[in-house]
Amino acid sequence: MLEILWRTGGHLSARDIFEQLNADGRRIGHTSVYQNLESLHDNGVIECLDRAGGRLYGHRTDPHSHLTCLESGQISDLDIQLPPELLQQIEAATGFEIESYSLQLQGRPRSATA
Ligand SMILES: [Zn+2]
Repeated sequence: MLEILWRTGGHLSARDIFEQLNADGRRIGHTSVYQNLESLHDNGVIECLDRAGGRLYGHRTDPHSHLTCLESGQISDLDIQLPPELLQQIEAATGFEIESYSLQLQGRPRSATA
């Protein structure tokens, strides 16, 4: 199961992983796939994103940002560093010390001619 998440490097639903396992000839029920994913997430081994279409699981657990393609729905992991000045402004405005952040970005591929 983890192997599939690492191999694809993306964000998959329990159903995607279930189908992948069955395609590999692994006999495992949909419910056990789901329960295993939830327990891996509870133990901080994998990440979990709640999306309109359902929960998605990914292999990274360090703070990172996500870029969602509005055309394909594909989600990519991004490492974005905000400028320190911006973080300081946010800290000044909120009175919090920011320890981590993750951005959710949405966009469309720019066409080659644009
Ligand atoms: Zn991710």
